[in-house]
Amino acid sequence: MSGEDCLFCRIIKGEIPSTKVYEDPLCYAFEDINPQAPVHVQIIPRKHVATLNDLVAEDEPMAGHLLTVAAAIARDQGIAESGYRTVFNCNSAAGQSVYHLHLHVLGGRSLGWPPG
Ligand code: 5GP
Ligand code: ZN
Repeated sequence: MSGEDCLFCRIIKGEIPSTKVYEDPLCYAFEDINPQAPVHVQIIPRKHVATLNDLVAEDEPMAGHLLTVAAAIARDQGIAESGYRTVFNCNSAAGQSVYHLHLHVLGGRSLGWPPG
């Protein structure tokens, strides 16, 4: 799927409303519409990348940035010390449903392991 038809590209463009948590030149973060924990934020790159498999070497600064943003959001949301989880679901067996790279930040409750 190209960026034009992509749900998360449309969220970045403001064509679909979202509750913004954070943004900067590389990424946009917003509240998940169907939260699986008291804190459930999606961090997405402004660049359309379909899955983790599609990352290329030049994406490394962006990909690393998503992680530092995740930690900053966890601090802001008050879950850094209690604990939280970051997840990239990649392809169908992992449950990926939107094919624009996104980093889940989940916290605010005890999270089971192993995941389902
Ligand atoms: P995945 O299952 O691909 O790892 O995660 C996709 C996530 O995007 C899901 O947690 C789902 O609730 C969220 N999501 C799907 N559509 C929308 C939407 O239109 N707005 C928001 N805020 N989240 C969405
Ligand atoms: Zn996209």
